[in-house]
Amino acid sequence: MSEEQQVVVVGAGPTGLLTALGLAQQGIEVTVVERAPGLQDAPRAIVYHWSTLDGLDRLGLFEAARTAGFFKQDYAYRVRRTGEIVEYGLQPLAGRVKHPYNLHLGQGALARIILDEVEKFPNARVLWRHELIGVSQDESGAELRLRSDTGETSLRAAWVVGADGARSAVRGALGLGFDGMTWPERFVAANIRFPDDREGWAQSTFYVDEKYGAIIAKIDESCEHGLWRYTYMEDAALPAETVTERLPGFLAQVFGEDVMERIELDAISPYRMHQRSASTYRAGRVLLAGDAAHATNPCGGLGLTMGLFDAYALIETLGAVVVKGVDDSVLTRYADARRTAFVDKASPRATSNKQLIFHSGDSAKLDQDLEIFRRMGREPELAAEVLYFTKTLESPSLLAR
Ligand SMILES: Cc1cc2nc3c(=O)[nH]c(=O)nc-3n(C[C@H](O)[C@H](O)[C@H](O)COP(=O)(O)OP(=O)(O)OC[C@H]3O[C@@H](n4cnc5c(N)ncnc54)[C@H](O)[C@@H]3O)c2cc1C
Repeated sequence: MSEEQQVVVVGAGPTGLLTALGLAQQGIEVTVVERAPGLQDAPRAIVYHWSTLDGLDRLGLFEAARTAGFFKQDYAYRVRRTGEIVEYGLQPLAGRVKHPYNLHLGQGALARIILDEVEKFPNARVLWRHELIGVSQDESGAELRLRSDTGETSLRAAWVVGADGARSAVRGALGLGFDGMTWPERFVAANIRFPDDREGWAQSTFYVDEKYGAIIAKIDESCEHGLWRYTYMEDAALPAETVTERLPGFLAQVFGEDVMERIELDAISPYRMHQRSASTYRAGRVLLAGDAAHATNPCGGLGLTMGLFDAYALIETLGAVVVKGVDDSVLTRYADARRTAFVDKASPRATSNKQLIFHSGDSAKLDQDLEIFRRMGREPELAAEVLYFTKTLESPSLLAR
């Protein structure tokens, strides 16, 4: 007979931990099972849009996130071919929204902040080194098969959240499709220390070029550290093991031949990128969230932004089902609303962002695409309207309908 839980969350990434925290805060017994021995800290997300900060606030994480990271408002497009610099900022959101700035914070640091909170709840626990290897379910719950250091174990839960990343074993065990496409290019994310702190550069710069295009964003506010994220693209047919050898060639094109003498490489990681969505985000007693439900290229920082919005919606809906006995059809609403937000909005926007930064060969189209950002720099009303886009990726309360 396996142990019975109210909710099991699979995956201790930011989406899973946040969901667990929000459920634990409502008094729900929640267990997180995680394959790894601890938090993952590869260079991945660093930017969280202003619209996600209300949710962090509600969950009591805002101050810790602010202390660990920093807020920023300035953006720029730099076009390699023409030398044009198009600048705009989030200042027009001031007075219209509670948090008119984006948060910059490494994904590992964000996960650490959430985990520290989860650990304060006696009704929440994380089982590290527990890999999900199978799921079966009936009308009243799901049975999870897990592999740990001591062999195979199982857990039974009334509800399961699969937040185990893009290669989700939960999604696989349910036999759900992950429809979409994989990009032919490889993205490379490098964390680099620039002692001169890239003076004169916006805290987020989109460097527009077909060959040397890059997203260059500050991770650490302290000038002493000058830590920046440099994300660029290369042919996926090149060997991934030798990615570090090719990095100086890319950096020299943007920052000058002597760049390697002036910087320190902190971390580097290659990634395949996808535009994919699970065929459904609910199968019976199992819900999907975060990258387990959807995967996108990182241009525009929408991946974890969507994961955070999934978590906020699940915290409300699953919490209501477990604590207040609300009809579980609200979870189907969760699944539909989150899938629609990804497929109809987030994924197409990430694709057009990638197109603009990395595939800008058609000068007339580039000029047309940049015009909106030029206007945003001059017209605050328009800027506020455009910047509101990421708020539309959040699902308004799904309970009230
Ligand atoms: C280069 C790069 C830059 C990015 N930048 C941004 C950005 O600026 N802003 C943004 O919003 N997004 C960004 N993203 C996307 C973001 O990193 C992902 O959306 C985010 O990691 C998703 O979090 P998650 O918790 O859903 O999944 P993950 O972070 O993948 O966590 C899944 C967890 O599940 C665990 N797991 C996997 N399989 C099992 C199993 N079988 N059993 C138990 N545990 C398991 C894993 O070990 C892991 O801890 C970026 C991505 C990349 C690659």
